Order: sequence, then C-alpha cells, then structure tokens
Amino acid sequence: MAPITREVLRDYLHDALPDAELAAVERALRGSAELRELLTEVMGQEDRGEHTAGAIWRRERASCPSRDELGGFVLGAGDPEFLEYVRFHLEEIGCPYCQANLDDLRRMK
Ligand SMILES: [Zn+2]
Repeated sequence: MAPITREVLRDYLHDALPDAELAAVERALRGSAELRELLTEVMGQEDRGEHTAGAIWRRERASCPSRDELGGFVLGAGDPEFLEYVRFHLEEIGCPYCQANLDDLRRMK
C-alpha cells in the first residue's frame, strides 16, 4: 500500500478512508511508534479546528483494545510493543471508554 502520510492520517481521523485502508492504517499504527507520533501531531493540528480529531477518534473507538488486552496491560503482560500501543491509546489519545474499562479492571484485581 502507499506510504501513510499526514493526509492519510487526517482522513483516518475523520473516518474518510475505505475499510481496507482503515484496517491497514490501524495495523501500521499498532506496529510503529514513529507513526503514532505523527498521528499525535496531526491530531494536535486538527484539534484547532471546530470538530476535534480526538473527539472523532473517541466517538469511533476505532482502535480500542479489547477488555482482555486491557487486562493484560494492567498486569503488564504481553508484547511490549502492543503494551506501548495501549499506553498510547490511554494516555495520548485519552480514550475515556478504555479509561473507564481500565478503572473497572483495576478495581477487580
Ligand atoms: Zn479506547
């Protein structure tokens, strides 16, 4: 597939990509810290607009880890690269859905 540029990430945040490309971008994001950094940058630029990219991301919950994966994150178990992705999702993206899930899991521990 074509290289993932800022424009592609912007379309991704606005849910303007065809499904196949969306999936490819998500896979790439999970695998590349560099790309996640670029996404944070694009989100920062987009947040100056009326409809914040963060809000769109959070509404779509496109990249949310599963509850099992969050459980692994609480325990620090699993692929370090994936744990870093979950940390990014929670702390950089600030996904409230996963935060709530995480709080829940921590209470059960
Ligand atoms: Zn999430």
